[in-house]
Amino acid sequence: MTDSIMPTYARAPLRFQRGEGVWLIDESGERYLDFGAGVAVSAFGHAHPALVDVLKRQAEKLWHVSNLYQIENQEKLADLLCANSFADRVFFTNSGAEAMECAFKTARKYMSATGQPERWRMLTFEGCFHGRTLATIAAAGQEKLIDGFGPMPDGFDHAPFGDHEALERMVTPETAAIVIEPIQGEGGIRPVPEQCLKGLRDLCDREGILLILDEIQTGMGRTGKLFAHEWAGIEPDIMAVAKGIGGGFPLGACLATEKAAVGMTAGAHGSTYGGNPLATSVGAKVLELMLEPGFFAGVSRAAGALRQRLEGLAAEYPDVIAEVRGGGLMIGLKCAAPCAELIQAARDAKLLLVPAGDNVARALPPLIVTEAEIEEGVRRLTAACEQVRAAK
Ligand SMILES: *Cc1c(COP(=O)(O)O)cnc(C)c1O
Repeated sequence: MTDSIMPTYARAPLRFQRGEGVWLIDESGERYLDFGAGVAVSAFGHAHPALVDVLKRQAEKLWHVSNLYQIENQEKLADLLCANSFADRVFFTNSGAEAMECAFKTARKYMSATGQPERWRMLTFEGCFHGRTLATIAAAGQEKLIDGFGPMPDGFDHAPFGDHEALERMVTPETAAIVIEPIQGEGGIRPVPEQCLKGLRDLCDREGILLILDEIQTGMGRTGKLFAHEWAGIEPDIMAVAKGIGGGFPLGACLATEKAAVGMTAGAHGSTYGGNPLATSVGAKVLELMLEPGFFAGVSRAAGALRQRLEGLAAEYPDVIAEVRGGGLMIGLKCAAPCAELIQAARDAKLLLVPAGDNVARALPPLIVTEAEIEEGVRRLTAACEQVRAAK
């Protein structure tokens, strides 16, 4: 590996050359079953023909014009997102962290535009992850993210996870919003119970503050609905989306109600690339494919099958897998041994998983994963469990 890249990632010694659906093929032609999907990004797997086609056709027409002009694909994707969610307004970004930045700015601007500029602080949760910009690491507040980066931007208060009473006491006249992932991703696949999401919605309504959901990992079909909050029957005021939305093409979005977006007027925010013709051509196709009849039911079916098999594996190997948790095709295996051992053993069996906090290995397969591929994945994971057990 070259030294020319900042060594901010502990990379696996694998260099993939191409992908086909749920499979990745490395330099030596070895095939890996990809249950990581580039960290919950490749919703339709690799090289999906319809996405390749739409990107190729757009590439021959127009790549970039900037947001000084109207962009047809962007309008199409924004209309589709609004027609299929709580939102009335969308701002496009290139990444999840930028979508979160837009969410924070939208909330603060709402408060200043409605005569409450003293409300500018955000309540976030222990174990959360919202990105790697200064504001988003300040939002998370975890030592491993902020260490060495100097004074953090002010305005984030960190509540304990799963303690509603403590949270209520932390809402002050300076609070603008509560920020939460419906299932903590990087924090270790920790689901927020539906009752808690409902309680947060009520709390926000009672206090006149905004509910911001980070659905960067949980959104775009990952849990078997377009957005995870639909399971709880609530709606946020503002939501950040990324990862799956571009199917692998860098794209993110901040969605808001008309009311919450009231301050986001001309000049309030911007992005040179955000929502450019290439990204939004793919994004619109991704969403169209997801909205085809039966797609989400298929995700839920696959998720149920995978979950059941993994529960079985955990029962068989309690010394390796302590708990299976999550929702839809966002599944965490809380490990009994260091999760790096299971992930390494899975890789030896040519199965790719993704590490997360709290000693969790994540299974985040493409949403198009078939039952046969799930069987194959579980077969490889069983071999990995055997290997971890044997090494003890
Ligand atoms: C990945 C992720 C982010 C950050 O997205 P980037 O595209 O890496 O900036 C933020 N929040 C959650 C929940 C994520 O999973």
